[in-house]
Amino acid sequence: MLYVKVASNDNVAIAIKDLKKGTDVGDGIILNEDIPQAHKLALVDIKKGDPVIRYNVLLGYANEDIKKGDWINEFKITLPTPPSLDDMEYATNINYPLPKPLRTTFLGYEVEGNPYAGTRNILAIHTTVQCVTGVLNVAIKRIKEELLPKYKNVDNVVAINHAYGCGVAINAREAKVPIRILHNLVYNPNFGGEVMVVSLGCEKLTVDKLIDPIYNTKENVIVLQEKKGFDDMIRSIMSMAEEKLKKLNKRQRKELPLSKLCIGMQCGGSDAFSGVSANPSAGYASDMLVNAGATVMFSEVTEVRDGVHYIASRCVNKDVRDKLAKEMAWYDKYLLEGDVDRSANPTPGNKKGGLSNIVEKAMGSIAKSGHAPIVDVLSPGERPTKSGLIYAATPASDIVCGPCQLASGITLEVFMTGRGTPYNLAASPVIKVCSRNELKDMWQDLIDINAGPVATGEMTIAEKGSELFKYIIDCASGKIKSKAESYNLANDLCIFNPAPIT
Ligand code: CA
Repeated sequence: MLYVKVASNDNVAIAIKDLKKGTDVGDGIILNEDIPQAHKLALVDIKKGDPVIRYNVLLGYANEDIKKGDWINEFKITLPTPPSLDDMEYATNINYPLPKPLRTTFLGYEVEGNPYAGTRNILAIHTTVQCVTGVLNVAIKRIKEELLPKYKNVDNVVAINHAYGCGVAINAREAKVPIRILHNLVYNPNFGGEVMVVSLGCEKLTVDKLIDPIYNTKENVIVLQEKKGFDDMIRSIMSMAEEKLKKLNKRQRKELPLSKLCIGMQCGGSDAFSGVSANPSAGYASDMLVNAGATVMFSEVTEVRDGVHYIASRCVNKDVRDKLAKEMAWYDKYLLEGDVDRSANPTPGNKKGGLSNIVEKAMGSIAKSGHAPIVDVLSPGERPTKSGLIYAATPASDIVCGPCQLASGITLEVFMTGRGTPYNLAASPVIKVCSRNELKDMWQDLIDINAGPVATGEMTIAEKGSELFKYIIDCASGKIKSKAESYNLANDLCIFNPAPIT
């Protein structure tokens, strides 16, 4: 077969490779023009104004007459209005049978007082304000060279640098978002419950706003304005870091039930295969993890907005459905204030990869959440109080979603890509799953799992999902490093700040 049709009612399908004009793709369809890999071809004649259907979902309306065998790109489809958020049906689709977990335990680092365990043992040095970043970075370099090699049980030292903290409207309504994210990052299980903060001394985001006041002691907090110059600053940071490293070095991995594992799912650089191969495989692994008691988060508001009614039908009760609607409405308003809407989401790369609009991208994106019921919905950076599949509302931007999920407590992220991105987080391993064989061939040493064989029909979603499940457990257990992790790749932590800068 030269194309993939997802659902029986679909009137379009995607090309599994670059196809030439005149190719007979079967079922009496002869291509009227060249169709690039992952792009859509019309399976039937579609009249102007008629629906274009993929995933059994309305992608939009044809804005010209389309002939069987034509190439359908973003210019030929008009976006439909987004689904209403009022009175969405809930709990109508919560009994889907989930796959039996292949394993039920992992090796993690327990953290006192935290329901989740770490997958890595990291010293995180938090900051209240960007002003301290330069000094901290010099100190971190020396800590890594001079101290870290002495503490073999500690994986890394990571600066939680960010652009927030001062010159901001700290009392603005939405300032709670960046503050919550930075506050909750402190308690990520990968940081072992050790608290270390470098502050300046005159910033708006005070230490007591960043951490719970009980931790605001001279054992945990350095104020640069109280130090006698640069040397004293570096000496103080290194000496506190060494005390923390001594404690972290005593942590040991233990065999723990998967209920102690909390991971995130994200995608970036998606293409039209993402929703056929990589994301459904991730969804299968997610279902298996959830069935074993683990917590899995998926996010990216603009990428679920058009499929929100499918998500609502999987919410376990009215409260969860209402929280979902509230987060979506907040984001609609946030976009509206910038005079844009969800159509601002697909990137030029997404479109080159065959994704015509946000509806098509959303349907692929949602597939990574599998079929499990949704037990809770979180605001950006909120920490979970329930186990299972959780919708953690965040922007879809890779480098903004990642820090939000870390703040919500994920200790590992699974990242699906079709076009390719070397994205990684310093504070947790990121496992890359690609949607097509060509990307794996190009990026052998950056892609962990290739879901391409699912797109070509050589493997099933269950087989690939099982492979990913085992890889997640091995990576969480420290038996393997993810590819990006092994090179120490790390993107900046871009903290979501919808509030004004002054
Ligand atoms: Ca993303």
